[in-house]
Amino acid sequence: MSIESEIQRLRAALPEGVSLVAVSKTHPAEAIMEAYRAGQRIFGENRPQEMKAKYDVLPKDIEWHLIGHLQTNKVKLIVPFVAMIHSVDSDRLLREIDRQAERCGRTIDVLLEVKIGLEESKEGWDSAALIAWLEEGSYRTLQHVRFRGVMGVATNTVDREEIRREFESLSRLRGELQSRFFDERFDRLSMGMTSDWELAVAAGSNMVRIGSLIFGARDYNKHP
Ligand SMILES: *Cc1c(COP(=O)(O)O)cnc(C)c1O
Repeated sequence: MSIESEIQRLRAALPEGVSLVAVSKTHPAEAIMEAYRAGQRIFGENRPQEMKAKYDVLPKDIEWHLIGHLQTNKVKLIVPFVAMIHSVDSDRLLREIDRQAERCGRTIDVLLEVKIGLEESKEGWDSAALIAWLEEGSYRTLQHVRFRGVMGVATNTVDREEIRREFESLSRLRGELQSRFFDERFDRLSMGMTSDWELAVAAGSNMVRIGSLIFGARDYNKHP
């Protein structure tokens, strides 16, 4: 199926209020333009340099979402234009986003990435550590980031029950953090990818990040 028809099919399948982040990492600008012509405006990338290069050549009404691990020394590359950073996983990273955002007169929407999967390598806050950090309260001094919600990646497994439990736990955590530390703007629940977006939506996701289903398989060999 074409990129355009996949976008249309997904849009029809997603309940109202669920945003589609089209994950275009490794795919060329022409593929993004095909999705753009189908009406897609939100694109997700996981590498700052790649996102900046695409931002430079593509229409300026695209909303760029950074979904991959972000190193502090790459923050300044994307802060001038990024719409949302889904992968905020440390105090240090938040401070650097805040500092760079202040320098360019912006306030950046961020999601707190929470580790929900079982893999050792999974990035994100441990939920207990995140709550302890919020209780400590220093996040309130950050004036140039806007806390919008949480993001998580489920375990890569065929065990659908496990995935469902992980999504439900992240959904509950969002509600708890919103009522204890934030306000009604902390309403984004970013979870679900090609293999598990339906489970994510059933568990309350309102932002799915879908790549291969739209653009086809990624060829990492072309992008060393
Ligand atoms: C690559 C990626 C996705 C999209 O994965 P697909 O399986 O291609 O849909 C979603 N979220 C994150 C964090 C990713 O790195």
